Amino acid sequence: MLVHICCSVDSHYFLQKLQGEYPEEKLTGFFYDPNIHPYSEYYLRFLDVKRSCKMLNIDLIEGEYDVDKWLQVVKGFEHEPEKGERCGLCFDRRFEVSAQMAAQIGESSFTSTLLTSPKKSLKQLQLAGDTLAKKEGIAFVAPDYRKASGTQEQNILAKEDALYRQDYCGCMFGLNIQRDQQSKLADELFVPLSKQIQPESIEERIEMYEKRWEFEEKEIPHKIIKQRFLNWRLLSGLLRVRNEVTPAHFLPYSTLRGTYSRGKIEYKVNNIYHMNRDEVRFITLTYYNQLANTSYQTVTELIYNPPIFSKEVSLRNQLGITPYDLSAILVVDEMPDKKIEILCESKTYSDVKEVLIEL
Ligand code: SF4
Repeated sequence: MLVHICCSVDSHYFLQKLQGEYPEEKLTGFFYDPNIHPYSEYYLRFLDVKRSCKMLNIDLIEGEYDVDKWLQVVKGFEHEPEKGERCGLCFDRRFEVSAQMAAQIGESSFTSTLLTSPKKSLKQLQLAGDTLAKKEGIAFVAPDYRKASGTQEQNILAKEDALYRQDYCGCMFGLNIQRDQQSKLADELFVPLSKQIQPESIEERIEMYEKRWEFEEKEIPHKIIKQRFLNWRLLSGLLRVRNEVTPAHFLPYSTLRGTYSRGKIEYKVNNIYHMNRDEVRFITLTYYNQLANTSYQTVTELIYNPPIFSKEVSLRNQLGITPYDLSAILVVDEMPDKKIEILCESKTYSDVKEVLIEL
């Protein structure tokens, strides 16, 4: 039987129930989810599904990440709420490709972990699955593992086996609507030009879950714990000196009262140049290199290839500024001696992240 898989939290429980109900059946997992955005989140969910299948000794096939095709399927329904028509199309598309894959590899039946989703009625899913399976000359299996205390058991299992638990369904449309309702930044969709890994970004989670995998392989005792912290994202930053755009690197946690400021350098204390407005500070690239023990030739080089985030945060501390300081600090090739204009659109917000600790 081919089992379409949407995520590890759903599949880990579903597959074990199937193994119990169909002990003679060879199960093959099929991860086909081009609805997951961005690609890094798709990769992270796939990584955890791989881990779950390995634990359960189930072969896994990765489907194509044909996101363009998925976008065509849901075109015109981008603004639909969750559980609306877009979700119906999204489910059907994943069912359709799964049925085709099952037939292609010679399976006589298929099922899907989407059956555990509270987003659609089991009846509707069964109807869609039956129709698509019939087209391929195979059967659709639709067990109800949600009933009784199924959902509760699933959650206990997910916790016990420390599965990756995403907090949005998958696509950018649903994510944006959800974050708007929560008055939260959809920071999952941010990728800085520098490719610097930001705190509590999907890329940071991937690093952590890959490390966790390594710990498991080496049997190193560990635990994933949660931590509340002050997060920051730079949406855009620009420096103009006498109307000319000038390369400038904004250090993490750079914030302005609004998004725009202008002024001129007023004084210098210990290699830090202070602007006469909005607590803005500047340092030269030479001083940055000295503090960070780096050898950047230009600020442009630094912008596109900065050190890791935590190193830049500790550099802020080295500047003798308190850990709670949110002043904008800009690194420049040469100290501007003319009229300065700054655009800094950034967000600081309370956030929670997972941290892997060795026991
Ligand atoms: S919200 Fe979820 S089910 Fe609905 S379209 Fe997006 S990914 Fe698919």
